[in-house]
Amino acid sequence: MASKDMPVTSEDVLLTAPAGPLGPHCSEVARKLVAIFASGRCFVAKGAEGHPEVVSVLSLARMQGIDVGRPAVVDTGTIRGLYHHHPKQVPSLSTDIAEELDDGQMRDHIYSLLAKAVEKRGVSDVFVRCDREEGRVFAVIDGQMEPLIKMRWPPGYAKQFIRATMAWAGVEGSSERGYQEGAHQVGQITQGLPPGLQSVRLQKLAVGFTGETLIIRLMPTPADGHIDLAALKFTDKEIEQFDSMIFVASGIVVVTGPTGAGKTTTLHGMLSRLLAMFPGDHWVTAEDPIEIRIRHDNVDQVDVVRTATDDDVAQSYRKALEAALRSAPDRLLFGEIRSEDTAAIAVRAALTGHQVLTTLHTDGCMQVVARLMDLGVSGSMLRNQGVLRGICSQRLLRQLCPHCRQPLERGQWPGYCPVWLDEIFNKHRGVYVPNHGGCEYCRGGYVVGRKVVAEIMRLDARLTDLLVEGRTAEALDHWRGLGGVPLLDRTSQQVAAGVFDPYEVIRCLNS
Ligand SMILES: [Zn+2]
Repeated sequence: MASKDMPVTSEDVLLTAPAGPLGPHCSEVARKLVAIFASGRCFVAKGAEGHPEVVSVLSLARMQGIDVGRPAVVDTGTIRGLYHHHPKQVPSLSTDIAEELDDGQMRDHIYSLLAKAVEKRGVSDVFVRCDREEGRVFAVIDGQMEPLIKMRWPPGYAKQFIRATMAWAGVEGSSERGYQEGAHQVGQITQGLPPGLQSVRLQKLAVGFTGETLIIRLMPTPADGHIDLAALKFTDKEIEQFDSMIFVASGIVVVTGPTGAGKTTTLHGMLSRLLAMFPGDHWVTAEDPIEIRIRHDNVDQVDVVRTATDDDVAQSYRKALEAALRSAPDRLLFGEIRSEDTAAIAVRAALTGHQVLTTLHTDGCMQVVARLMDLGVSGSMLRNQGVLRGICSQRLLRQLCPHCRQPLERGQWPGYCPVWLDEIFNKHRGVYVPNHGGCEYCRGGYVVGRKVVAEIMRLDARLTDLLVEGRTAEALDHWRGLGGVPLLDRTSQQVAAGVFDPYEVIRCLNS
């Protein structure tokens, strides 16, 4: 074991130097904070002992068989000096993993990676990608992917990380399924997570020939146990529109939009409003997986993931919905209508006097009726007064930093300009685009969180009839007559007001 007082000799190999064996796995950031020698001598900058990149590099060294003792804590100047005096080193170690970490040790790494993700503002998912050459870690921040850790992981380590994460999900009782090589798998972790995380949802994809990608969706702890629609920045007027659709005894309310549009938050936001209004009503929810835990005496949450096996997730979901309906609820929340079975259950629930809040994958409100009919729901069922109460179609877009956004005129707009954008240019002097340097206020991020943009459609008999008959142009006119504002119109108003970047709108909306 290397002694702390032993001087570093010029023969000692600096493993973390750019050309050292650990060099490729050590980022510039890590190199400022840690130096590891082949003798096991190790130096960490004061205060950086728990830094995820430092922790990762140290464990990599241990995996390579380096007898790293307790690191000496020094100032950053000392570390800079070590790199200065030991600049070049010859790689000599095999890149094979000499020693595997056990799941417990690996769990500390997973924990610190998740803690790092939580610390960063706006991270919704973490991607761990692993192929034959290397492992990389990315974060989805406000819908955009960027590296979470600059360091590249050796493939063996990345694979072990993915395996241990799946095993953790298995152990925590969300399923019996641990890691399976080369299989697409799902799972959920609900315990032992860093503060700020209620759960994480895992999806493992087998990619390419030898690769795997683990997608970790972060489910943050809700503020005070309930979700507020205002958290997505719905306006007071929009919240009023929700109230007019949901404060009824029965019928289906559908939220649509792509993945990551905040649909689940909207569902739970409606549920919270209903619970506040009718605290005595019995709710049963069925979601796959449960993303938000509701702490309320009258809410039973059916956990589909726990009861599902690999090949019958769809069937388990259907069974969960049926079980929910049998348990004498007043109101139901179904995570998603995704098959003929589940569409039939939702409609049956609505026809028998229940309220159902659910989501559906469509491009907008106008497509919901057609989609339900594709799923085998008959037009005559839908025409039943009040089966389908209302629809919200939403997107979640990054909001421009109001302090550093830049005006842009028509002549400066490069490339493709859709009609709606051309109209904004004609009507207003210009639009606003991000200043990619950012400012002090947005800390260089040039955006200040995300904001929902939505079209909210309350259905009356006439509108339902027109949609069932597929007369969409007339349906749109009728809806506009009732005060309806389509998603693109609402979004372009916000582009004109400088809230959204037009690029972002083109990226996220089909115009
Ligand atoms: Zn700014």
